[in-house]
Amino acid sequence: MQIASLTASIVQIPLRREIKHASATRRESANLVVCCRLRDGTEGWGEGVPRSYVTGETPEGALEQLAATPLEEQLGRSCASWADVIQLCCGFQPRIAQPDPRGHRANALRCAVELSILDAFGRAFGQPVSELVHHYEPARALYAPQDQVRYSTTITAEGPVQERLSALKMRLYGFRQCKVKVGVAGADDAQRLRRIRFWIGRRMDLRLDANEAWQADDLPRKLEPLLRNRISCIEQPVPHHQLESLAEVRRQQAVPIMLDESLTSLQDAQRAIALDACDLFNIRLSKCGGFLASLELAALAHVSGVGYQLGCHPGETGILSAAGRHWAASVRGIRYLEGSYDRHLLRELVTCEDVTFGYGGRAPALRRPGLGVTIVPDVLARLKTSETTWRWGQS
Ligand SMILES: [Mg+2]
Repeated sequence: MQIASLTASIVQIPLRREIKHASATRRESANLVVCCRLRDGTEGWGEGVPRSYVTGETPEGALEQLAATPLEEQLGRSCASWADVIQLCCGFQPRIAQPDPRGHRANALRCAVELSILDAFGRAFGQPVSELVHHYEPARALYAPQDQVRYSTTITAEGPVQERLSALKMRLYGFRQCKVKVGVAGADDAQRLRRIRFWIGRRMDLRLDANEAWQADDLPRKLEPLLRNRISCIEQPVPHHQLESLAEVRRQQAVPIMLDESLTSLQDAQRAIALDACDLFNIRLSKCGGFLASLELAALAHVSGVGYQLGCHPGETGILSAAGRHWAASVRGIRYLEGSYDRHLLRELVTCEDVTFGYGGRAPALRRPGLGVTIVPDVLARLKTSETTWRWGQS
């Protein structure tokens, strides 16, 4: 079985509400959606969320990278097994025009293309994408299929009334873990957290994400009033360029540190481990270059004694939600799981299936072939702003 064509589209996904954190505010998400068509007509779908402040990518730039990549040479081979498909995906190396010292300047593109390939071949093989985890050598020790996963929730920077409501809603909905976005200019985080802790209840596992808002030398002073609210972890408290200083501050702090913006690639992960800069990685499929690259990061974390969560980008559609579900339902030891916000965050679904989590953040493993979701063509056609197709072979 061979790939006949790739079609890449930029889609503008409208969100139900404004999402605000320390480094961005958005009401819609510009995503890259890729369709991989096999010779027999089987279609697979993939998605990436290029964010310039995370991996330096833009949706338009991703299309340029794809146009400059010798696709037939890299993706033209025939695949008869997951081992072949893994090899094919590993051989996909987008052309990157700029210097790329962190090895992440095409990660969202890699993710979108790779997921479309995995979905297409999964459908052709009649197997769910999660099947490939135990075929991927670096991740074999992590393989632990589960019937159900449980998502964590997030409270973004909102007004006091809305925050109180959100906290109460999260508690009543039965979540066990909640992340609070902190570090937004003008917000009194100490007061916010006291209020959120009160309304969300004593039992909720509460953690913070500062999205690079603070400075390393100021970190103990920023954290001290917040940690009184029983905080289990702080994510990316300082900008990436302060990673070495963060490693020093971490030695004097009891609260575990998670890296997100500083964890985009294998190079990033190896450096963070060498510096002993963190306790946890926030792995996100799009940010980290796809399903396989994310497995590799989790495997490295696992052998290095670093914990990991699977995170998401707000604005991911059901394609990335489904991919995250397959990943989470087949990997052991995930500390926190984020994603599958679909119905709660998207104004309309681009997938026929609604993969939004249910009560308590619970959601079942997906068992259908490929990613297990199908695209609604009309919705996708309405939301896309550009589309390019590359064909090769005899199609
Ligand atoms: Mg984060």
